[in-house]
Amino acid sequence: MAVEKVIILGAGPAGYTAALYAARADLRPLVLEGDEPGGQLMLTTTVENFPGFPEGILGPELMQRMKEQAERFGARFAPRRAEAVDLSRRPFTVTAGGETYEAHALIVATGASAKWLGVPGERELVGRGVSACATCDGFFFRDRDVVVVGGGDSAMEEAIFLTKFARKVTVVHRRDRLRASKIMQERAMSNPKIAFIWNSVVERINGENGVVVSVTLRNTIDGSVTELPTDGVFVAIGHKPNTELLQGQLELDAQGYIVTRNGTATSVPGVFAAGDVQDPVYRQAITAAGSGCMAALDAERYLAEQGLL
Ligand code: NAP
Repeated sequence: MAVEKVIILGAGPAGYTAALYAARADLRPLVLEGDEPGGQLMLTTTVENFPGFPEGILGPELMQRMKEQAERFGARFAPRRAEAVDLSRRPFTVTAGGETYEAHALIVATGASAKWLGVPGERELVGRGVSACATCDGFFFRDRDVVVVGGGDSAMEEAIFLTKFARKVTVVHRRDRLRASKIMQERAMSNPKIAFIWNSVVERINGENGVVVSVTLRNTIDGSVTELPTDGVFVAIGHKPNTELLQGQLELDAQGYIVTRNGTATSVPGVFAAGDVQDPVYRQAITAAGSGCMAALDAERYLAEQGLL
């Protein structure tokens, strides 16, 4: 099999933008899309903060358009998830779907995935009242009561979205102040269907006959424990980077994010990282797209320097 000039792992805003730029540089990038083509934006409704769409655009539509734009210039996409990489040899090797690919340069844009609470009842009741995606599962909670856990933008977005279906949405947050942006806070707080329980953590999710019936809450100030009846629990407490594949091969920080320097360079020359997988701070679609562009330009420069173009 021919050695690819550049393989891109991941198909969110970072991967698609890297693919667009690499394709326009005539690198014919191969994108291994992973299990969730489109990434986290496939799980959102309207994206209101991506420049160029004054009326907003649906997350899945934005991702489809990014993909088509990259395809138009010659990017290739494979619906495969990278299972192993070997960055110790040149060219690099990537194993996906039982096949081994070789590449002179690699762009890692594998994103981040939702975090779970890790409390009793959570795992057993996923899909039976426990969810990390309101846009996927909100529909099942028409006229029901639901709990949203978290105090960031994701939690506010989930809570607001769930008011379309649910009778009542209760946000449970571990502090007395939200982390979410002001505009999202205001929207959530002015929504009559949304109530807040402050300084509280979910200690356990309780089921009966295989479905959620309540959560056990513990107050973080006085330690008191209460039970709150609910039909659903939406966990929206942030994300963790998808870097399991790279452990021991690339420098990662304490949270598992890829460490980048001088743009998108990683600890291995020829391997570049873009998007949420290397960004614990901004984590926006537009910043992911921007770093995807940078990674493609960095990869092109690296290939030119190595005489591999
Ligand atoms: P986040 O900003 O990291 O917020 C996570 C929230 O979950 C925090 O309130 C945190 O509490 C809480 N939390 C974390 N671990 C917890 C645990 N084990 N138990 C209970 N609570 C826990 O994550 P995010 O909301 O997913 O947002 C990530 C990024 O995406 C942000 O930059 C955000 O602005 C962006 N985003 C933007 C939009 C939008 O603009 N519409 C929508 C979604 C996301 P503490 O506050 O106490 O730390």
